[in-house]
Amino acid sequence: MSEDVVTLRSALAKLPAYTPGKPASAPPGVTAYKISSNENPFPPLPSVLDAVQAAAGEMNRYPDMGVTELTATLAARLDVPPDRLAFGPGSVGVLGQLIAATCDAGDEVVFAWRSFEAYPILVTLAGAVPVQVPLGPGDRHDLEAMADAITERTRLVLVCTPNNPTGTTVTDAELELFLERVPRDVVVVIDEAYLEFVTAPDAPDAVAVHRSRPNVVVLRTFSKAYGLAGLRVGYAVAHEPVALALRQAAIPFGVNSLAQVAAVASLTASDELKVRVKELVAERERVLAALAEQGWELSDSQANFVWFGLGEDTAAFAAACQDAGLTVRPYGTDGARATIAEREANDRLIEVAGSFLAARRA
Ligand SMILES: *Cc1c(COP(=O)(O)O)cnc(C)c1O
Repeated sequence: MSEDVVTLRSALAKLPAYTPGKPASAPPGVTAYKISSNENPFPPLPSVLDAVQAAAGEMNRYPDMGVTELTATLAARLDVPPDRLAFGPGSVGVLGQLIAATCDAGDEVVFAWRSFEAYPILVTLAGAVPVQVPLGPGDRHDLEAMADAITERTRLVLVCTPNNPTGTTVTDAELELFLERVPRDVVVVIDEAYLEFVTAPDAPDAVAVHRSRPNVVVLRTFSKAYGLAGLRVGYAVAHEPVALALRQAAIPFGVNSLAQVAAVASLTASDELKVRVKELVAERERVLAALAEQGWELSDSQANFVWFGLGEDTAAFAAACQDAGLTVRPYGTDGARATIAEREANDRLIEVAGSFLAARRA
């Protein structure tokens, strides 16, 4: 007789695996850089670290389930009513709550592809059906095709801007046209994980967009520009009924006490953090210009990473980077994503990419 096997959900068999950025590794004598997870290369600000260290002394207590201080601080900052905010363990956590709150088995979630690899996992795990709409020219969202993909079964549409991993944004005008076409009972998520790095003047301000559209939900995170990836805190801005549903669907005490104090301290120190973001944006522009000079035709990244649409050469490029101590993030035969990091890492990326292109052309 075969061994007893417990019954697990069939959805698990369909789940794509989330591939986390590999740890850094390098040949002897070379500094290794992990540029595969879009992390902020700057260490925590002293003021933030102090707040977290003080809070660590009370880790025997549960966190504030109402996330009271962070809610009040952020509501004032964004000029939204506190009831329109909902928090979770990273904005990935909040998105999981949103899918749980909107989708029954068999319901459809429309999103672009390639986009954030957590999307198909969260959707499939919930028993919903991912509807992936190929990116259009320039590695950009094809919002017309996405609107065409909406059916009676669609409960959610995810718009990732800037898009991970291609870095491209939708324009404010494109988004408005798209939202006009989406039925009012379908929730549209605007995932702005990289908002702080955007400089394009025609990019939308999703919080402004949400004010007049009750079906729009804005997702943001403290993981990237704010440098709190290890503490796990993200949030949604949504009209009251949706924000309430997000709280109902949350794991109790999901946002830990260190994350809550770190987020408040980071908002208090946002001027200092903005200086760092500016530096990273300047580095992105420097890297993109150097790569263009070498002959690369890359999409216009508005995030803290660059995208190499390498096709079949993806694995070879990732290997060449690895040999130089740079761990980038390859995506099958689509391309590779490299995070803008310390200056030395960026310089090395430019160097490796230049040699790779020269060898490919030879
Ligand atoms: C990094 C990222 C997030 C946020 O991740 P959390 O750390 O869970 O807040 C959300 N969306 C996209 C597209 C991302 O790249």
